Amino acid sequence: ARTFLITGSASGIGAATSAHLRRQGAHVIGVDLRDADITADLATDEGRTTLAEQAGELTGGRLDGVVACAGVALFDPLTIKVNYFGAVATLESLRPLLAAGTDPRAVVISSVASVHPSDPAIVDAALAGDEEAAVDAARAAVDSGAGALVYGSSKAAIARWVRRTAITPEWAGAGIPLNAIAPGTIATPMIQAMLDTEAGRQAIDGAVPMPLHGHARPEQIAPLLEWLTSPQNTHVTGQVIFVDGGADAVLRGDST
Ligand code: NAD
Repeated sequence: ARTFLITGSASGIGAATSAHLRRQGAHVIGVDLRDADITADLATDEGRTTLAEQAGELTGGRLDGVVACAGVALFDPLTIKVNYFGAVATLESLRPLLAAGTDPRAVVISSVASVHPSDPAIVDAALAGDEEAAVDAARAAVDSGAGALVYGSSKAAIARWVRRTAITPEWAGAGIPLNAIAPGTIATPMIQAMLDTEAGRQAIDGAVPMPLHGHARPEQIAPLLEWLTSPQNTHVTGQVIFVDGGADAVLRGDST
């Protein structure tokens, strides 16, 4: 059986993917703030260290797949800490375990919001690995009333990190495909309260138009994550795969 580690496993896409992979017979180690095999706050250095240490102990040093789902969508610097720096710390600290695994693969969750307007100060600081500067830039955005940019910036930055990182000796050279997926609107606790109000739903649908099949359930995202992390995926790497009912095609038109 393959062994996976999934962050954000207690809710939404991470919970649905954990359940889906377990039904296929996989061994899944869940990581979250609560209700998980490893309880860790990926916004903090302490939580990131706990993840790396406990993952090593629970797996005996070998992992076959990592799915980094943990994320928040808040008008707050916490969003860049969890969605970018927490995800990078997860993937980088688990990479040696993947290198020791069988047909290892990794995926992180970006978003259609990665093609929404973003704040270059946040994105550049993130890609430079400067968490303090990224948090300062995010705080400046929030204070100037542009807090909505923080989420899109975190998702644009992680998508660009995946493209840069996937082709390095540590990943491609070690035979480890590394991809992102970019979901449209998925009905999960992250956004359910907004979807439940008419004004909130209209705001979401205006920002993320989904002409094919409308909003998705997290169970409809899990099979894509299963395939990307399966041995069948031999050559897809460095990609950001939109699973968005056509939102990216609507928003970006003919630009590729
Ligand atoms: P969710 O809120 O249902 O699940 C997110 C999980 O991440 C929660 O269990 C939460 O406790 C965990 N988490 C948050 N902060 C954490 C931290 N500091 N340390 C450890 N765990 C933490 O949301 P979801 O919709 O399933 O989101 C999963 C991923 O998908 C996120 O990265 C989100 O940005 C992304 N995404 C969601 C949508 C959507 O429409 N729901 C769209 C695009 C991308």
